Amino acid sequence: MNFNCSKNNSGLTERLEKALTDNRIFHAYIFEGRGNTDKVEFARSFIKGVLCPKNLGENCGQCNICDKIDHNNHEDIIYVEKEGLSVKDDAIKDIQEKLNIKALGDRNIVVISDSDTMTLRAQNRLLKTLEEPPGNSILILLAENMENLSQTILSRCVKYRIEGDKPRNFSEKARNLIEMMQDGAPVYEMNKYIEEYMKDRDKTLQLMDEIENVYINIITGKQEGASQYKFEDIYEKIQLIEEARKQTHQGMSASYALKNLILKMSL
Ligand SMILES: [Zn+2]
Repeated sequence: MNFNCSKNNSGLTERLEKALTDNRIFHAYIFEGRGNTDKVEFARSFIKGVLCPKNLGENCGQCNICDKIDHNNHEDIIYVEKEGLSVKDDAIKDIQEKLNIKALGDRNIVVISDSDTMTLRAQNRLLKTLEEPPGNSILILLAENMENLSQTILSRCVKYRIEGDKPRNFSEKARNLIEMMQDGAPVYEMNKYIEEYMKDRDKTLQLMDEIENVYINIITGKQEGASQYKFEDIYEKIQLIEEARKQTHQGMSASYALKNLILKMSL
C-alpha cells in the first residue's frame, strides 16, 4: 500500500496496511502529526486503502475511485476545515446531517482537519456521532496535538502519530541556538539567527520541537558535552518549551511564542 509520507513512518504504514487487509477497520481515527507533516495526504492514502476496489488494504492510485479521492471529488468523503481559529459547532452539525444520507458506495468518510481546534461545543456534538456512528461511516480526525481533544473523544478513537521528515538543518539550528544561549549571546542576535525560520509557522514549531529534542538528548546522554548542563535547568527549559507550544495552540503566533521562549530561556 502506498503512503505519501516520510520514510520515518514505515512501521506505522505497515501496521495500517495489515489492519486493513485483516479487515480491522474502526469507525474513528486520530492521525496526529506535528508541523509540516501532510496529514490530509496521509489520510487520503489511508482512505484509498479502504475504498479502492482492488483489494482491501491496497490503493492502486489508478482506478476511478483512487482518482476521485486524489482530486477531492469522491461523493462519499466529507472534508471539514477550521473556520478562523477553530472547527465550529456548525461544521459538526453539517457533518451529522450529511452522514444521515446513505453513502453512494460502501460508506461515508469524514476528514476533519485541525480537529484539535474544535470548540468545546463542537467536541461535545461530535461525541454523539462517535458514540453511534451511522452505518459503516469512518471519522478521521487530523490533529497537530491530540492532547487538545477531550478525553472522551480520545477514548473513542484509534490514535496514530505521523512523523514528518526532519531536515538536518533544523537540528543544527537548534543546537547552535542552544550553544548561543549557553554563551550568553544577546537575544536580538539569536532572533536574527533564526529569522528565516520565523516567517513560517510550521518551521517555527518544528524548530521548537528540535530545541526540545536537543535538551532531551542531553538528559538521556545522547548529546555530547552533556556534563556542562545542570539537569534541573534543562527540565525547566523543557517546561518553558511545552508552555510556548501550548500558547501557540491557544492562538498566539508561533514566532511570537518562540521569541518569548528564547527570552525566558536566556534569563
Ligand atoms: Zn484504486
